Amino acid sequence: MGNTSVSDSAPRPSQKPPPGMVIGPDGKPCKICTAFRNWKPKASTASMATLATATDFHSDRGPDSRLAHCPPDVEQLGRATWTFLHTTAAYYPDHPTSRQRANMLNLLHSLPVLYPCSHCASHLGETLKINPPDVSGRVVLSHWLCERHNEVNERLGKDKFDCAKTDERWKDGPPD
Ligand code: FAD
Repeated sequence: MGNTSVSDSAPRPSQKPPPGMVIGPDGKPCKICTAFRNWKPKASTASMATLATATDFHSDRGPDSRLAHCPPDVEQLGRATWTFLHTTAAYYPDHPTSRQRANMLNLLHSLPVLYPCSHCASHLGETLKINPPDVSGRVVLSHWLCERHNEVNERLGKDKFDCAKTDERWKDGPPD
């Protein structure tokens, strides 16, 4: 697509990214375009190395490789869906066009109709009626989504997530 791998780009020496890091269309390292398992982080980014190890679960290597080929259960589907939704919100424009807003609304309102876990979909449909999505910008959308996810967390007896950390979790990564 619009991204260039490290091997076929020539970043300036001062911008040389760690091996495996993909360069985005803006010429900068693009974390969201990079498979962490292919990325060899520098020692100074050891916290991201932990992530690289964690994603081995989804690879074809290691003792969990059989699990990687099983159909998803409600938890795996949920994790994947939250990942998609939070990441999409994190990269949503600050000032979306009317078309982008309409597409986001379509995406969110499609979930209660199409999401394969029917009881999850039904709960989501109810919450969308009570709390209509705010698609006016990236920050408010990310916060809105965090609150919806927290409603599910609460229902499942899990801890609430601190919505102030949404960007850290889904866009920027932990501070160095
Ligand atoms: P998840 O809840 O999947 O979260 C993944 C990661 O997101 C976490 O590790 C954390 O880092 C981050 N996170 C957690 N909370 C937030 C937040 N509020 N904001 C931002 N980031 C956060 N499962 C059921 O059993 N019953 C249901 O009714 C149900 N409804 C669901 C409805 C929807 C729309 C979706 C997408 C999923 C639903 N699930 C439901 C699945 C459930 O939410 C979890 O995905 C699943 O239980 C796995 O949980 P987890 O603890 O691995 O982390």
